[in-house]
Amino acid sequence: MAVVGVLALQGSYNEHMAALRRIGVRGVEVRKPEQLLGVDSLIIPGGESTTMAKLANYHNLFPALREFVGGGKPVWGTCAGLIFLANKAVGQKTGGQELVGGLDCTVHRNFFGSQLQSFETELSVPKLSEKEGGNDTCRGVFVRAPAILEAGPDVEILADCPVPADRPSITISFGEGTEEEVYSKDRVIVAVRQGNILATAFHPELTSDSRWHRFFLDMDKESQAKAFSALSLSSSS
Ligand code: GLN
Repeated sequence: MAVVGVLALQGSYNEHMAALRRIGVRGVEVRKPEQLLGVDSLIIPGGESTTMAKLANYHNLFPALREFVGGGKPVWGTCAGLIFLANKAVGQKTGGQELVGGLDCTVHRNFFGSQLQSFETELSVPKLSEKEGGNDTCRGVFVRAPAILEAGPDVEILADCPVPADRPSITISFGEGTEEEVYSKDRVIVAVRQGNILATAFHPELTSDSRWHRFFLDMDKESQAKAFSALSLSSSS
């Protein structure tokens, strides 16, 4: 059975572990680089991305995390985890923050504002009902949430949502200078998949809906089936 790692430095890793338990899957807390060798896939939870990056640096996790993502194993980032996986992050206090990268996206770290602007909304996600049938909507819990401003051509958009009318305009700093944020579209991307990477700006682990965790496990199964067929091809040649 697949072993799902959950990066357990900070944030909502307990909630992801509980969500995995609810669907009968073994989750393993990951805090050290060598622990990544023993897991088939990885969830990077929400929390606070600057703090998480400092802790990841302290434990020398960045090289191993990049290798894990680059090696094609399934990785799911929720909220701060999405920020970690993005190739580029903008937004307050991003200066110098280290990212794992791999996801061809630009994210805004605090797109929807501060803790006070946290909100819940219904999202339409046709991919969620593709395998299981039934309802294609899910509850999105957004906590100081990021959003994806731009996504590359290989990124599949799984969900977007309307930009709230009362969203505060945020001043963001790019390197040395400071610029006013310009975002003129009326919808913004909040869930994507790029190959082995799944990323959501919201927190499915804070709801009782297990479909996102099952969706991720299906990615895990696909990747194990691929690894198995590659192995049998090489051993039969
Ligand atoms: N905006 C937060 C950050 O910058 C992420 C919030 C979350 O993970 N709930 O890290």
